[in-house]
Amino acid sequence: MLNRNDEHVSVSTAAPSFTSNTEKDLKFCMAEKRPDPCILVIIGASGDLTARKIIPAIHNLHITKSLPLRFVTLGCARSKLDSQGFRERIKNSPLNNLQQDRAAWSKFSSSLFYSPVDYNDLSSFIELKKTLDELDRENRIGGNRIFYLAIPPSLYRQTAQMLGQAGLADEQEGNWVRLVVEKPFGRDLETAVDLDRVIHEHFQEHQVFRIDHYLAKETVQNILMFRFANSIFEPVWSRQYIDHVTIKAAETLGVEHRAGYYEQAGVLRDMFQNHMMQLLALTAMEPPSIFEPDRVRDEKTKVYRSLKPFSADRIEEYLMLGQYIKGTINGKAVPGYRDEPGVSPDSSVPTFAMMKLFLDNWRWQGVPFYLMSGKRLSSKVTEIQIQFKEVPHSVFRRTLGEHISANSLILGIYPEERITLTFQTKQPGTRVCLRPVTMDFHYRQDDDGPVLDSYEKVLVDCMLGDHMLFWRQDGVDLCWSFLTPILEKCETCSDKDGLLKKYPAGAWGTDNIERIWQEKG
Ligand code: NDP
Repeated sequence: MLNRNDEHVSVSTAAPSFTSNTEKDLKFCMAEKRPDPCILVIIGASGDLTARKIIPAIHNLHITKSLPLRFVTLGCARSKLDSQGFRERIKNSPLNNLQQDRAAWSKFSSSLFYSPVDYNDLSSFIELKKTLDELDRENRIGGNRIFYLAIPPSLYRQTAQMLGQAGLADEQEGNWVRLVVEKPFGRDLETAVDLDRVIHEHFQEHQVFRIDHYLAKETVQNILMFRFANSIFEPVWSRQYIDHVTIKAAETLGVEHRAGYYEQAGVLRDMFQNHMMQLLALTAMEPPSIFEPDRVRDEKTKVYRSLKPFSADRIEEYLMLGQYIKGTINGKAVPGYRDEPGVSPDSSVPTFAMMKLFLDNWRWQGVPFYLMSGKRLSSKVTEIQIQFKEVPHSVFRRTLGEHISANSLILGIYPEERITLTFQTKQPGTRVCLRPVTMDFHYRQDDDGPVLDSYEKVLVDCMLGDHMLFWRQDGVDLCWSFLTPILEKCETCSDKDGLLKKYPAGAWGTDNIERIWQEKG
């Protein structure tokens, strides 16, 4: 449990150990090489993700001069638009605020093009190839292409096939072709394996980039730096000193306008199969021999391989599911999940889950990991809490009793980008009293340099061919192997509704959820 601390001790920013970057280091941090010239082809460019994330990310990269020197974006979808219509649509979309910086937009938008495509028609992809070849020639790109699948997941399979059959997956000597696949990668183990098989009929593994934008958050990337660039934490990072670990990703938002997707996914597919598993792996993995994409992903895979399967007939001991009913968030009345537009009135899709899982390995034997994520909770918070064990023997027991609140380390990911360590100190005064205090590090402390948004980071990494922040298929398969029996059990059980605890929107906070779990035993 998180201790409520009322006193704070700030770390001194003047201490030599906290003057984080020399001028040389800072330059090094920012000196990414410019990616090769390329065309970004967004398939599904009329959709939500394109307007909300992909184009704003590219636009920002244009402003910060992080794009290749020669770069164009080609949007494709079924909608019948021309390039000008596409530019207007993106600029006027309420999903972004691109119209605010008119000068930057007008310069950037001339590099945006559009070409309609029919996902069922091979000739349409052959036409696309011609359009790309022309754009390539006109802009002296040299053949490098990224195909970004920003379409509903049910279309990934056939679109990858069409790209392959139209010859768009082929890499020629001296150029590259990459395929970006958005989550979810399949909806269970079988469909994930099948999707991968189809993709690999045309694309090789080095061409495939399975995005998990969570991994690109600075504070998520920082987890490995914190663990493996400091010698003081690693010796205590195991079952010997850690009582339990809690990984939370709570949202105040409901399903918003994405009911069509969410009704098919639910919280387990939406959050657990990807983001939560990545946070778990970063927290629990062994140090890689070197910080390279495949060495890091090898270690993550070992974590997934250690996931102890749930016993299907005792699932309630390990899993708690919930669905929000109407309630109040920040003083505003909000509808229940079943009353949201596009949601079935008798939907049994969970919008909240808390899972207690164990890793069957030497380091973590017997240490529970609580993973919790949900919509319409009382606050938006993503954090990892390492709860250490109590001291083995209280020398203060005559005055303070046997129990002294244990140390806790919080890796705050959002909205608090910070690292907080709680510990006990003496309360000033004549009596022997303890007070819990916190030592806080704010991630942006001593640094006002540029920060890449997570979509900016993954797009640049893809252009650079760096797989570090992308899923490898063995990890995807292992996570589905773990989750698929749980999903099947939940989705085929005769009393699906009975598995769901109903929670009023805004009523559950992340602290009392832990209490609910602990009361549950
Ligand atoms: P949308 O539902 O907005 O769909 C994107 C485009 O695909 C639509 O504009 C539409 O274009 C086309 N499309 C939609 N439904 C169909 C259909 N049944 N048949 C053929 N074409 C269709 O998706 P998003 O942009 O929200 O998401 C794209 C992908 O990114 C999804 O896989 C999603 O899971 C993933 N993702 C999305 C996030 C988000 O925040 N939106 C976050 C993380 C991942 P047209 O009609 O013009 O062909």
